[in-house]
Amino acid sequence: MALVTRFAPSPTGLLHLGHAYAALIAFDRARAGGGRFLLRLEDIDRTRCRAAFDAAILADLAWLGLDWDGPVRRQAAHFADYRAALDRLDRLGVLYPCFCTRAEIAAEIAASPGAPQGPAGPLYPGTCRGLSRQRRMARLAEGGDHALRLDVAAARRLVAGPLTWHDERTGPHPAEPERLGDVVLARKETPASYHLAVTVDDAVQGVTLVTRGIDLAPATHIHRLLQALLDLPTPAYAHHPLLLGSDGVRLAKRDGAAGLAALRAAGTTPADIRRRLGLADTAAHAGNACADPVVP
Ligand code: GLU
Repeated sequence: MALVTRFAPSPTGLLHLGHAYAALIAFDRARAGGGRFLLRLEDIDRTRCRAAFDAAILADLAWLGLDWDGPVRRQAAHFADYRAALDRLDRLGVLYPCFCTRAEIAAEIAASPGAPQGPAGPLYPGTCRGLSRQRRMARLAEGGDHALRLDVAAARRLVAGPLTWHDERTGPHPAEPERLGDVVLARKETPASYHLAVTVDDAVQGVTLVTRGIDLAPATHIHRLLQALLDLPTPAYAHHPLLLGSDGVRLAKRDGAAGLAALRAAGTTPADIRRRLGLADTAAHAGNACADPVVP
């Protein structure tokens, strides 16, 4: 089966060297094996995404020498796909409306020392999971905002047998979605969360190898559960190390100096970038897709 991989940035800022690294290793991997390289813009958060960043990303990638197969998939054009997945999860009985504000969640966590911690902080304490049907209906009838959360325990009960996923760098992993708790899958202002959209899209686009930063490895526990619930294939994963700045801290969109546009303006060439990242000159020479990144 031909390899299909992708680069999936969010147009919430300009690309930096860390993005170049992620994009190039996915691209090199696809091109070295006669596979397909797809580009997806994860623009579901309409409050933070900008058309100007969308255009700048395409320009930076083209400058780096990347071309992608097929049209760019922009998530904001596919809310119907995510709605269909949510409806399916709802029919399975694994979603519940959550009426908590962020402040209420923080207060509840503060009041319960020893509350379980996830990779990104304390887990949602499950307040709305326990609402009676009557209370839930009454709150919905009031018409206030609510999010939809995944009932991880209920979902687990539905899925037969242990779930695993495989990382090319680190081997097999048991899926432990409990580590992330009852994640939000949709909100009023953003009707599909990262977890939902990325799982649906990787399947719709036929992705066979998900290459992305190690910071997103914990999310794979949830994605694997969603794949099982939605009857979607499970791709292989290659979570690569993150590029660190000279201060030892991971690069962020606000680090202008490592921005590709700034580097380009300063006369850096795409070949310089590849060298700086420790990558082969061209995709044709790429052997090790996940070499450890060099500190720029
Ligand atoms: N959109 C995510 C980001 O910009 C990447 C998502 C993924 O590769 O799964 O960090």
